[in-house]
Amino acid sequence: MNGEPIRKIVIVGGGTAGWMAAAATSRIMGAFPGLTIELVESEAIGTVGVGEATIPQIISFNMMLGIDEAEFVRETRATYKLGIEFVDWLRIGHSYVHPFGSYGIDMLGIDFHHFWLRGQRAGLDMPLDEFSISAMAGKAGRFIHPRKDQPNSPLARMAYAFQFDAGRYARFLRNRAEAQGVIRTEGRITEVLQDGETGFVTGVRLEDGKIVEGDLFLDCSGFRSLLLGQTLGVGFTDWSKWLPCDRAIAVPCSLAGDNEPLTRSTAQPAGWQWRIPLQHRIGNGHVYSSAHMEDAEAEDILHAGLDGTPLAEPNRIRFTAGHRDRIWEKNVIALGLSGGFLEPLESTAIHLVQSGIARLMILFPSRAFNPKEIERFNRDTFADYLDIRDFLVLHYKATERDDSEFWRYCRNLPPPDGLADKLEMFRSSGRIIREHNELFTEASWLAVMVGQGVEPSGYHPAAALLDEDETRRRLSHIRQTVAHAVSQMPTQDEYLAGIGGAI
Ligand code: FAD
Repeated sequence: MNGEPIRKIVIVGGGTAGWMAAAATSRIMGAFPGLTIELVESEAIGTVGVGEATIPQIISFNMMLGIDEAEFVRETRATYKLGIEFVDWLRIGHSYVHPFGSYGIDMLGIDFHHFWLRGQRAGLDMPLDEFSISAMAGKAGRFIHPRKDQPNSPLARMAYAFQFDAGRYARFLRNRAEAQGVIRTEGRITEVLQDGETGFVTGVRLEDGKIVEGDLFLDCSGFRSLLLGQTLGVGFTDWSKWLPCDRAIAVPCSLAGDNEPLTRSTAQPAGWQWRIPLQHRIGNGHVYSSAHMEDAEAEDILHAGLDGTPLAEPNRIRFTAGHRDRIWEKNVIALGLSGGFLEPLESTAIHLVQSGIARLMILFPSRAFNPKEIERFNRDTFADYLDIRDFLVLHYKATERDDSEFWRYCRNLPPPDGLADKLEMFRSSGRIIREHNELFTEASWLAVMVGQGVEPSGYHPAAALLDEDETRRRLSHIRQTVAHAVSQMPTQDEYLAGIGGAI
């Protein structure tokens, strides 16, 4: 279906989603003749003010924008992130790391972990973490960029992301977007204008009466979902049955002690607490279920878990797990919280903004707005949400904790079908199945399955081709190679100092 080209994109909202969209569309579409991009935001309303931990895919977003990484790290006061440390999730006193990247090296054409499982069955006491360069470097507080020039070293397999100051990140992207021609308009939107016949959005009216018109609207208005939810009335698929946490309270605190390049998630009686160390402060938050805990108790738990002195008043946030029934409706596409939200246990929300932008670039419409392309966009986005939901539910479902009503609810909940299949397959044969190009890799599923105490009763038959001695010898060698590589790395603090950042 052909149609006239889009002349104007209006981005509603200037949080992380809005400025990511502005920076990306102006970079990619900026050369389109006659295309204008305008972003409307209201400083009085402000942003959600959280969202500081990412996953490795952000590196390709930065590359696409042509961002100099050292400058980015300095400007956003970022630290490196090698994974997430889960504390007290399986049982109180237990911890494991979900690292980025892979474990060990594959042998005989099958996944490494089958040999590790064989070793476990033979009584070898070698924790899985010790086969991951990212997990071990993270725990040792060390960092180095992947050494692609040493393809046989575990250093080549380092995978990383960032933890950054959300406010600084939005400003950093804003500078780039404005330099690339994006027009920024300050003001509160008081009315959304629609075509009387089609219901398409035609413009937004600001408090001062000004009207900003456009052809394509990116709804980045946060939980308000001003265009998609409020104006177009698109409903919401509620997943709180699976993910009952519906509140967060966040507070930054001063730095204290060493800062590992890891996000930490500590399970609490009715949820969990995050700790995100940056160059200049630590971000903290307590995510909890209001059906299982009062706000005051949640705040007390948060404060009791701070390493440093609080630096601001607590930021209280309400949410419901789930997503809008359509993410793209008519000429409105939601990016960020306006389209849905799954709790930040695996730092996936900023990635969903990024994948939404990438999808939009692939399916960029004409003014004819082909329904097939819209359908495709929605279908693929829902698949992302579903994959992430199942991965998050795994953390709650596979636990030995039964010390509170919340944990008893989570562990007794029948898993969603996709997760049930994955659990059954892993338990019976150690195999990890992924239906399509899912966001989380085999290594991620392995990390959390093993970390949460899911025990396979078997492994791939090919792993038995190596006898027990040979299995032990190879596993020990890999483990030592990882430990040696970690010992060669600088600390994260030294590394940051080398690029002009500082803790
Ligand atoms: P917002 O930041 O809320 O921005 C909305 C924008 O819309 C603002 O500029 C606002 O002024 C504007 N606006 C709204 N209404 C109007 C109006 N009427 N007129 C004009 N402007 C208007 N993600 C991660 O990837 N990692 C994490 O670690 C992580 N942690 C999180 C923790 C919590 C507790 C929560 C709730 C979210 C977390 N997220 C995380 C998600 C992440 O914060 C968001 O995905 C990201 O910040 C994008 O938010 P946003 O831009 O959609 O919304």
